[in-house]
Amino acid sequence: MSPPTHGSRAKCLQRLVRLSLPVPRTVALSFDTVHTIAQGQLPDMPALIAAFDPGALLCVRPSSQETDWGGPGAILNIGMNDARLASLAEDIGAEAAAGLYLRFVEAYAVHVARLDPDLFDEIGESGAKGLARALAAYEEEAEEPFPQDPQRQLAEVLRSMARAWEGTTARLLRQARGAPVDAGLGLVVQEMAPGLGRGECGSGVLQLVDSQTGLPQITGRYLSQSQGREALTGGADSLYLERDPRGRSLEEAAPEAFALLKDYAGVMRRRLRAEMQIEFTIQNGTLHILDGVLVPRSTRAALRIAVRLAEDGIITPEEAVMRIEPRAVSELLHRQIAPGAARSVIGRGIAASPGAATGRIVFSAAEALASTARNEPCILVRRETSPEDVRGMHAAVGVLTERGGMTSHAAVIGRGLGLPCVVGAARLRFNLQRKTLTSERGQVFREGDVITIDGTSGDVLEGSPATVEAALDEAFHVLMGWADAARDIAIRANADTPKDAATARNFAAQGIGLCRTEHMFFEADRLTPMREMIFADTPKDRQAALAILLPMQRKDFTELFRIMEGMPVCIRLFDPPLHEFLPTDRHGLRDLAEALDLPVSDVTRRVQSLGEYNPMLGLRGVRLGITVPEIYDMQARAIFEATLDASREGAPPVVPEIMLPLVSAKREVELLRGRIEAVATAVRTERGRDFTFRLGVMAETPRACLRAAEIAPFAHFLSFGTNDLTQMTYGLSRDDAGRFMSDYVSQGVFNEDPFHVLDTDGVGELLAIGAERSRAANPGITLSICGEHGGNPDSIAFCRDVGMDYVSCSSFRVPVARLAAAQLALRAKGVKLPPKL
Ligand code: PEP
Ligand code: MG
Repeated sequence: MSPPTHGSRAKCLQRLVRLSLPVPRTVALSFDTVHTIAQGQLPDMPALIAAFDPGALLCVRPSSQETDWGGPGAILNIGMNDARLASLAEDIGAEAAAGLYLRFVEAYAVHVARLDPDLFDEIGESGAKGLARALAAYEEEAEEPFPQDPQRQLAEVLRSMARAWEGTTARLLRQARGAPVDAGLGLVVQEMAPGLGRGECGSGVLQLVDSQTGLPQITGRYLSQSQGREALTGGADSLYLERDPRGRSLEEAAPEAFALLKDYAGVMRRRLRAEMQIEFTIQNGTLHILDGVLVPRSTRAALRIAVRLAEDGIITPEEAVMRIEPRAVSELLHRQIAPGAARSVIGRGIAASPGAATGRIVFSAAEALASTARNEPCILVRRETSPEDVRGMHAAVGVLTERGGMTSHAAVIGRGLGLPCVVGAARLRFNLQRKTLTSERGQVFREGDVITIDGTSGDVLEGSPATVEAALDEAFHVLMGWADAARDIAIRANADTPKDAATARNFAAQGIGLCRTEHMFFEADRLTPMREMIFADTPKDRQAALAILLPMQRKDFTELFRIMEGMPVCIRLFDPPLHEFLPTDRHGLRDLAEALDLPVSDVTRRVQSLGEYNPMLGLRGVRLGITVPEIYDMQARAIFEATLDASREGAPPVVPEIMLPLVSAKREVELLRGRIEAVATAVRTERGRDFTFRLGVMAETPRACLRAAEIAPFAHFLSFGTNDLTQMTYGLSRDDAGRFMSDYVSQGVFNEDPFHVLDTDGVGELLAIGAERSRAANPGITLSICGEHGGNPDSIAFCRDVGMDYVSCSSFRVPVARLAAAQLALRAKGVKLPPKL
């Protein structure tokens, strides 16, 4: 694709001209020209002016590469001056001519001469009187009369728009919307069809779909004797476009112009292959198309628009898949508060980004990062957010701000991230110093307290009300079906519980890539036998405790296998150090002493002796399997018995996958493989039935990657645990790196937090080595990733490049991963990104 040079608006106008649509004469200035203007060097102004009819009024509009990167506002009626006022007054009437001039003076004063907007807000009069006051105010403030020379006016407008784009605030804002640092701005200079004057004159905006739903619906307004987008704010005076029971319409007022407009809109949809929002004017009954931009759209609408364009044969299904930003899909997936749930509302704000989120209150981005590093979901509470908060917003599950509206920073970023967000909750008292949030009724919430925000209604709620999963519509499923057909890497889900597994299936995961079994032991009825097992002095005592846990685990696995109906389920054997299951406070120690019938002093001593200086590097994972083998024996037995219990006649066979965590040496695998096979043989004999299973290794230590060649022959699969691998590669603690991560990222030491986005250089090199060496030693081995990075589109690209068979990520990221993977495959096949309009 040729590099963008003039921006999407210019490109669109050029295409409209080629389609012979009635576009007023237009000249587009390239990114380079505008950059040069910002540096102080103007283009050949007399030549530029000469491109238009002598005496024509002009407007200048921004044309960035993508419409939603923003840019300076359009400036209309350039060329208006005292002389033009007099001649225009004869044509269109004195008031209308004064209206045009006034509009230009105000825009010029505020955006070009940078005078205080309040001066002009105070004028309050329109027409000739308003104009006289505005010109006087200009002269007084700017200490010179309003410039009369059209060439100078245009030059100043171009210069100020070019400079505004290159300012720091504008750059930060567009970067937050995904624009690169060096994004360019083009400018479009266009002859005006003013929309004011004799006969039917006016302006309006039209689109063929609803911006929220994406469903077909002629939407927009028209206002007689108006310019730009005034029709949208014209209240009762604005006409509907199509005949409408609510009021008068353009269809009735100017049927021919309306019919033509509708035709042109259809042509634009078909030929530009997109839903466009069209700005038009009618000048003495004649229609002009001034501008076309992509219809502003919610994610849901974007999806439906893409699907409908493909269904209408305007684009291919593959192009439709390319048109949806994978990260945006997560917005559709967020859970909502259950309709019947009790809602204890403590405050209200503007519903800025949909979905419900429950988490602990944090008051700064740094705390948000730290909280997430501890795996504690949090709600970031700020007075308002700024670009420095973006990383904290990434870390939080939701954002609540005291100030702001639908287009404030928090709202824009929140929607971009698909992060539930409530802004402008001014009735809640925010005390950031004391770290409290006080409701109108005087309830005080402190840092760490759990609240829920409902970004769909704007409510802020106490505690964690029941929620329901997102309802995904038909268009979503159609698009995801197309994505799945294009994809060449499988997507599984990390799911620990039957509920997670059901969500995974709901999102069409192709199996479970990581079931962290230790999560099953934290439930109240399991903790005591677990602790008894830990405290057992002899293998016999230990086995007695494990015998209590066995049927519980068997039931867990049977349920998972049943839900997944023959899809692969990869069960990771017990991973954390044992002390994580033991109490730490006096109260808990006393309870445990009671349960075990031991003196508190004994229990305390044992708990202390099990404590580890650095448990992340301690007696955990496969090391437990080697030193306390009864635990893995029990889990293997539970898995095999569940395999038989869940296998039904005629149903797809259950082939469990057993994964050993934290492996660093081939002997670990060799030893445990022997033991697990022995358990399988025992179960086969006892039950008199056969089954198969697959044994694999979690590659999450650097050594496992480096020695993959000797480990792979003992394994059916290798799954890279990039959370621990990142920790060990960097020597960074997963639990407290958040404390300095933001400094590291802001000073450019790391490009990104490597726990969020895979470090393809360092950790990636280990993955590539591990993948290559294990494949060479065992060509049939299945390779995958199951760390958090599995759901990140950039990281998926890397995994696909090194030849992994699947990625596994949390269930809610599965659709994002499916779409991202499909786009990678399509891009590799040469399907292009849609032209940017
Ligand atoms: C990992 O380390 O990448 C992983 C998936 O396991 P956990 O997060 O449970 O340590
Ligand atoms: Mg791990």
